[in-house]
Amino acid sequence: MIIVVSPGASQEDIQLIISRIEESGRQAHLSQGTERTIIGVIGTDPPELQDMFETMTHVESVHRVTKPYKLVSREFKAERTIVQLPYGVTVGGNELAVMAGPCSIENEDHIVNTAHAVKAAGANILRGGAFKPRSSPYAFRGLGDEALRFLSTAGKETGMPVITELMSERDLESVCRYADIIQVGARNMQNFMLLDEVGKAKKPVMLKRALSGQIEEWLLAAEYIMAQGNPDVILCERGIRTFETAYRNTFDINAIPLAKELSHLPVIADPSHGTGKRGLVQPVAMAAIAAGADGLMIEVHPNPDHALSDGAQSLTYSEFIKMMRSVSAIATAVERSLSGVKATAAAR
Ligand code: PEP
Ligand code: MN
Repeated sequence: MIIVVSPGASQEDIQLIISRIEESGRQAHLSQGTERTIIGVIGTDPPELQDMFETMTHVESVHRVTKPYKLVSREFKAERTIVQLPYGVTVGGNELAVMAGPCSIENEDHIVNTAHAVKAAGANILRGGAFKPRSSPYAFRGLGDEALRFLSTAGKETGMPVITELMSERDLESVCRYADIIQVGARNMQNFMLLDEVGKAKKPVMLKRALSGQIEEWLLAAEYIMAQGNPDVILCERGIRTFETAYRNTFDINAIPLAKELSHLPVIADPSHGTGKRGLVQPVAMAAIAAGADGLMIEVHPNPDHALSDGAQSLTYSEFIKMMRSVSAIATAVERSLSGVKATAAAR
């Protein structure tokens, strides 16, 4: 339920409404904008409760949120969320966010060199895996804490915020120390304990859609994070598993405009995992930006054939430069900015 506070209500009047919400055993989420103040009531919303709040002084109106996810929904918050990051980078504003870097960090030079290359091509956020969710326990599972330090060094050296995946509550403290965005991977989208923990963290979280996660399940997973008090959630479509085996995953283009219609949260597209094939990354990246994505996550490697994970879908430096130029042409068409990248038409 959403309570719209009457214009001119004082802080004490607002506090009184919040106290009544808490007395009813529910949580209150205050959102004070320049235009109006609204209070979200989290918990069940029977009609009697709506009647009770409607009769309170300083309450302008009361609305029930029809969706099962509340804080995440567009009904709850009409204006788009813009996540603020270090170095003045934002996710969800007019400027596209481009997160690029290797699937996994292999050594310090590897991440530092890749950071310089992707930055020069126009990326504004550095990605790199330290803890890798691998299908086989014998595959390379990341360098762990050591990689977090390399990632942080590379981010500082190039002036970019950094994002890395957190797989377990065990590593929350170290990931928070070194990273600017915590990535919750597809395989952990419904790890509800992990969602609770990142919800308590004071860091933006990027939540990837599960391999067979429905849109509603994805948004409810984001609700877990927001319900713990973390407003800085970014959604990421990374492809879903379908009957098709010609590519690794099926990038669900529909999910981009739908998630943006249902939620105020920024939506990032990951065509690297969404396709699993290097040759498909650029066209799908262009399609995602055309469909309204707020940015991209792209795997880039200096020598993909020797990558310790996801080489088949990683772009070389020159392929990434080319992709950025093509994406820039689409960005212009949809009136989004991608600073420092010269647009060129994509090769057919
Ligand atoms: C990744 O970003 O490297 C990754 C493992 O992604 P996902 O969780 O989407 O598979
Ligand atoms: Mn990967």
